[in-house]
Amino acid sequence: MTLNAAGRAARVELRGVRKEYSGGVVAVHDTDLTVEAGELVVLVGPSGCGKSTTLRMVAGLESISAGELSIGGKVVNDVPPAERDIAMVFQSYALYPHMTVRENMAFALRLRKRSAAEIAEQVNAAAETLGITELLGRIPKQLSGGQRQRVAIGRAIVREPSVFLFDEPLSNLDAALRGEMRRELAGLHRRLAATMLYVTHDQVEAMTLGDRIVVMNAGRIVQVGVPTDVYLHPHDTFVASFLGSPPMNLLPGSLVRENGAVSVRLAGAPDTFVHIPASLAAAAEGEGVESVILGLRPEDATAILTDAESPSSNALAGVVELVEPLGHQQLLHVRVGALIVTVHGAARERPPLGARVVLRADADRLHLFDAQSGRSMSILESTRAT
Ligand code: ADP
Repeated sequence: MTLNAAGRAARVELRGVRKEYSGGVVAVHDTDLTVEAGELVVLVGPSGCGKSTTLRMVAGLESISAGELSIGGKVVNDVPPAERDIAMVFQSYALYPHMTVRENMAFALRLRKRSAAEIAEQVNAAAETLGITELLGRIPKQLSGGQRQRVAIGRAIVREPSVFLFDEPLSNLDAALRGEMRRELAGLHRRLAATMLYVTHDQVEAMTLGDRIVVMNAGRIVQVGVPTDVYLHPHDTFVASFLGSPPMNLLPGSLVRENGAVSVRLAGAPDTFVHIPASLAAAAEGEGVESVILGLRPEDATAILTDAESPSSNALAGVVELVEPLGHQQLLHVRVGALIVTVHGAARERPPLGARVVLRADADRLHLFDAQSGRSMSILESTRAT
């Protein structure tokens, strides 16, 4: 068996695909998405946002209310799951409990009436790839969670599908094993060069695994892109706060102009004015936006101890209210007026609670959102520029 599925990897296309359950519940609004052949795309978002429903429509486990779904250039809206040339791996493993690992992995090939020699060759090759050769004679209850999930993945591999679908496959595993399996899956994707559509609510899994990530909220795609781009340039406050742990600080305020410079006056700390770059100010002015949300990632600011009773109004100044040591660093929660701003602090410099600090942030790292729509002003600006 060759473990290179590249020749068979298929492109998946959703055009206006929608899912409406009886009673008018729209789980997935009209959705456009293309997963290129050989690409690993991760659908990520909070529970209930429509990720699984989208995946299950691709699998054929849910009917499609409207739109067109194609796999490998062929419209499959009405094609039953078994004929879609896909293999799905579930959170629950879904192994046959009375069958050995070998029998579980061979099952689909038996149904396809492959020869015993061919089945043995494919199962052995997949087992070797996944490091489960010594488990082939066991039944599922004699396996750990991680081993069971390897068997479920092996069962998918031997079928050589043109598309792999994963529905939260690592969610039942403990944190250390999740990390290990995540790296194995990434390696598997590289080796197989297979098309993979992967659903998770875990942003770390999404960021580390995806060639591209698709962030969903309330049944809609809100942003698609290379993980780092999405993290660095979130299109709106939802994406900004969903990706990142702890999330981006979102500080409501209003734009104030003085002597040609533009600042954000924070609503929760009206004595605090934060200068914003001219480009962001111009974008906000171009849109006629006055009420804004200033975005600051915890890693983009440094807390500096200060003696000043009342530092200049141009600084984000406050008092350390809580310190959470994480080992490699600390999280400092700083009270600025009525707001709490969370920033990273060095591991070995624990400021005392109540210490006065000034938060220094690189202006180029600031984000600015329209408070009404939540849309990013930086993105509006770059959109206009292109
Ligand atoms: P996710 O995978 O992102 O957690 P789902 O795709 O499972 O979300 O669900 C999306 C939405 O569709 C949720 O609001 C859920 O309650 C709803 N939903 C899922 N299955 C059904 C169903 N069979 N009937 C009605 N609503 C459903």
